[in-house]
This record gives sequence, C-alpha cells and structure tokens, in this order.
Amino acid sequence: MEKIFEYEIKCPVCENTIKVSDYLYEAPFNEKLIISGGVCGKCGYKYSDVRLAESRGPLRIRYIVENERDVNAIIVRSSTGIIRIPELGVEIIPGIASQGFITTIEGIILDVLEKAKFLCETGEVDKNTCEERISMLVKASNGEVKYTVELIDPSGLSTIVSDKAVTENLSYEELEKIIAEIYSK
Ligand SMILES: [Zn+2]
Repeated sequence: MEKIFEYEIKCPVCENTIKVSDYLYEAPFNEKLIISGGVCGKCGYKYSDVRLAESRGPLRIRYIVENERDVNAIIVRSSTGIIRIPELGVEIIPGIASQGFITTIEGIILDVLEKAKFLCETGEVDKNTCEERISMLVKASNGEVKYTVELIDPSGLSTIVSDKAVTENLSYEELEKIIAEIYSK
C-alpha cells in the first residue's frame, strides 16, 4: 500500500488533533481504494475510513447470495452507503460521524446476528420471533438461504468486489425516492 496523503482532523470525542494517513490500495477487479487511519493521542479514539478512489456517481449495487461461497464477497461501504437486505429485514443506515468500513457479506450478517441476539437477551422481543430470526440469520451467514444485498450510495464511493455484483447508476430523482422511503419508516 502506498501512502498518498496526510492531514489532520478533530477528534469527535475529545477535540484533540488526529493525524490521518491515506493509503491507496489496488483491490481485485481494478478497484482502487483509499484506506484512511489515525489514532487520537489523547483519548485513543480510532479513526478509520475506506472508500473507492474515484466516485462513479450515485449508485445502487445488487448482489444475490445463493451459496456458501457468495458470503465471502468483500463489501466496501463508504461513510454514506446504505445497506439493505429486504429478505432478512436488514437496513443499515449511516449515522452521524459515520465511518466507511470493509468487510465481507458474512461479516455484515454476523454483525446483525450479534445485535439480534443482544435484543433477544433483553427479553423485549417475543421468544419464538427471536428463535426464528436467529436461525434465519445463521443460515444467511452460511449462504444456506437466498437473499439480495443492496448497497445504495449517494456519493458513489462504495462497492461489492465480485463479478456477480450488478452496479446501476441512479438519477437524483431515483435516489431521492429511495432515501425518502427509508427515512419515512
Ligand atoms: Zn480524542
């Protein structure tokens, strides 16, 4: 990895200065990524971000998981990317001070599974509903059920690294419609 840039940001926790380094990384399928990282010297807050080096404009990527190999695809979600998996009722919307991350489809599902388990332990959710959801997510993490991963990014800096991923450009009207739909829930 080649260091291409160095700059300073303000720590969102303690407002100290964090020195951030940007690295250029060439991923498979000619995807160029910028990976950023820095640690706050005062409070230890870790800043990390990952995004495509060049924007392709507002886009929607669709990726269908059909088997146990498909869950290994790498997903780069920039700080503005929205992840939706309609069949599993999953919606991951970036919050304030959102950071980009790189993981696999399996990593996303395992994260959702952890959160579902935690919710179930609080006893606020019906036991049968919990068991069903957890067993569904376990199957999904192993690629035993079919589902669609949708990655919508207004900044166009997200990607799913696979030749199975279908990328489609969105007009601003389409993008507005999708965002209104998500935030109206
Ligand atoms: Zn700090």
